[in-house]
Amino acid sequence: MDTETPTFDALLAGSAPSGGYNYAFLDEVTKRAIRRAILKAVAVPGYQVPFGSRELPIARGWGTGGLQVTLAIVGPGDRLKVIDQGADAGVNASNIRRLVERTTGLPTTTETAAATVIQTRHRVPEEPLRPDQILVYQVPLPEPLRIVEPSEAKTRRMHAEGDYSKVWVHLYEDVVRQGEISIATGYPVMVNGRHVMSTTPVPRWDVPKMDRAPFLQLFGAGREKRIYAVPPHTSVVPLDFEDYPFRVEAFGDTACARCGATDVYFDQSVDDATSRRVYTCSDTAWCDRELDAQEVAW
Ligand SMILES: [Zn+2]
Repeated sequence: MDTETPTFDALLAGSAPSGGYNYAFLDEVTKRAIRRAILKAVAVPGYQVPFGSRELPIARGWGTGGLQVTLAIVGPGDRLKVIDQGADAGVNASNIRRLVERTTGLPTTTETAAATVIQTRHRVPEEPLRPDQILVYQVPLPEPLRIVEPSEAKTRRMHAEGDYSKVWVHLYEDVVRQGEISIATGYPVMVNGRHVMSTTPVPRWDVPKMDRAPFLQLFGAGREKRIYAVPPHTSVVPLDFEDYPFRVEAFGDTACARCGATDVYFDQSVDDATSRRVYTCSDTAWCDRELDAQEVAW
């Protein structure tokens, strides 16, 4: 009797694209349930729709929400791009891309313009997206009211009643303590003038790109079992005060050490040799494209 333990790679390595797994890993009933949750989320922008989050071959907290949304919506003709901190080469991004490739046979890409579906963890690509593209966010903490209210029942009620006074008090206290609104990621926004929504772990830099964007934005939180959406051309307004307006991160006259770009969101690192701070584009696909363009020009 052969008692060899199959590895995940071996299970996926069959002759069919899905290697014995259902198309896009999840069963059809699950995918249909997720698509129903997405439709409801699109119909009520910014509202968190509960869904039956499934087990996946990656741990909760590693992007299972975004991955379930992606698996439920991809189909023939799609091309997937996955980014983590703006980079396509991250371990998490590479593994998610490989899982979709192997269970669907769909092509993947690192080029922003070539993708129909982009799954992201921390960034909105620098290159403007088109109406035919869908941006899927991996969401760790979907509830923007959690910082002011630990009870799930109470936050649901606050959303239902549109009672966001505690968030405003929180922002006011922030200004009193820090002299400005100091929230770095997950900045709270008002969606479609109705629901306060968390902007996940994207930096403030990307928040203006969400407002009246021509493309569909889907948010999946696997551990918290929530899906929400911002349909195309929907208003996404950061909560702020007239005298303390929302601001994106200021990089001054910083330029990318690789491609020389200036008006982008930067990653910071320290040069081992000189101990100096080095700034490079956080969006690696953007950086590569800029470099290619310069080579052609030379
Ligand atoms: Zn660059």
